[in-house]
Amino acid sequence: MSDTKHYRVLIVGSGPAGLTAALYAARADLAPLVLEGLQPGGQLTITTEVENFPGFPQGIMGPELMEHMRAQAQRFGADTQFKIATRVDLSARPFVVETDDARYTGDVVIIATGASARLLGIESERLLMGHGVSACATCDGFFFRDKEIVVVGGGDSAMEEATYLTKFASKVTIVHRRETFRASRIMLSRAQEHPKIEFVTHAEVDEILQVDGEKAVRGVLLRDTQTGQQRELACEGVFMAIGHVPNSSIFSGQIDMDEHGYIRTRADSTATSVEGVFACGDVQDTVYRQAITAAGTGCMAAIEAERFLSH
Ligand code: NAP
Repeated sequence: MSDTKHYRVLIVGSGPAGLTAALYAARADLAPLVLEGLQPGGQLTITTEVENFPGFPQGIMGPELMEHMRAQAQRFGADTQFKIATRVDLSARPFVVETDDARYTGDVVIIATGASARLLGIESERLLMGHGVSACATCDGFFFRDKEIVVVGGGDSAMEEATYLTKFASKVTIVHRRETFRASRIMLSRAQEHPKIEFVTHAEVDEILQVDGEKAVRGVLLRDTQTGQQRELACEGVFMAIGHVPNSSIFSGQIDMDEHGYIRTRADSTATSVEGVFACGDVQDTVYRQAITAAGTGCMAAIEAERFLSH
């Protein structure tokens, strides 16, 4: 491993939270390092059009928005590197963050590692992932031209993915385990009014059914949550849109988290249980989880970091 490099501010993660923290820290002359992680730009890079980020009345494509954020942070001196943090030590200052081939120390660490798609956790899902099962409509929708697809979930993600998939699919069935939806009214009605979208409620996916002798999907085995009765629904693609889990495992045992792994921050602050470590964006947000709120907390984290460093 190469020599240790020291930064005043180490930012782990490069979604709207991490890059906004980087922009503000860079403009405060703190020359931060951003470790971009597995998915530089974060979750917005696997979405299509972002319609609710203020300042873009016509909408903007997710990857383009993230490219702008990165360029803006770099313009003021943020160093962004396509590296994945694999180990951290928050037990003493300066804090240590390691990647496979580098070791960094920081007077402050800003955690902005975001969240990843939740999966059902059944064996057939694991087996057929990438072979008819997906958690990213914008990545894989293209492969399902004129095919029937199932989208699992009842939140905004499910509505968004289902609506997007109608561009390719001949029919999209949204399977949701309850009668009421978490999705916002506008996104739910857009899906409900779409001629290619059907809904099955009170249903859970017990199994994803495989084509005999081939790694491909032929349907799902649904269970009615009220009667317990099972039935098969034919489809060639299954998209999971059942929420997210925080990417906080490398910090576990070193910082306070809730029972789901979300990092706890103080009220009206991004301060964590470790002095000098701040957390922003989806890794600490169980309520809003929007790009704009992530960016807002990224800004807070950088301002709090600057104040911490000046004391
Ligand atoms: P979410 O709102 O947490 O919804 C997850 C859905 O998946 C819920 O309907 C939940 O059912 C269902 N679910 C969870 N675990 C399940 C399981 N094991 N089996 C079957 N169903 C399961 O997650 P999300 O839709 O990803 O949205 C997350 C946040 O991002 C929200 O704040 C949302 O507003 C935001 N978002 C916004 C946009 C936008 O505005 N353009 C787009 C996407 C997401 P229950 O309801 O029964 O719990």
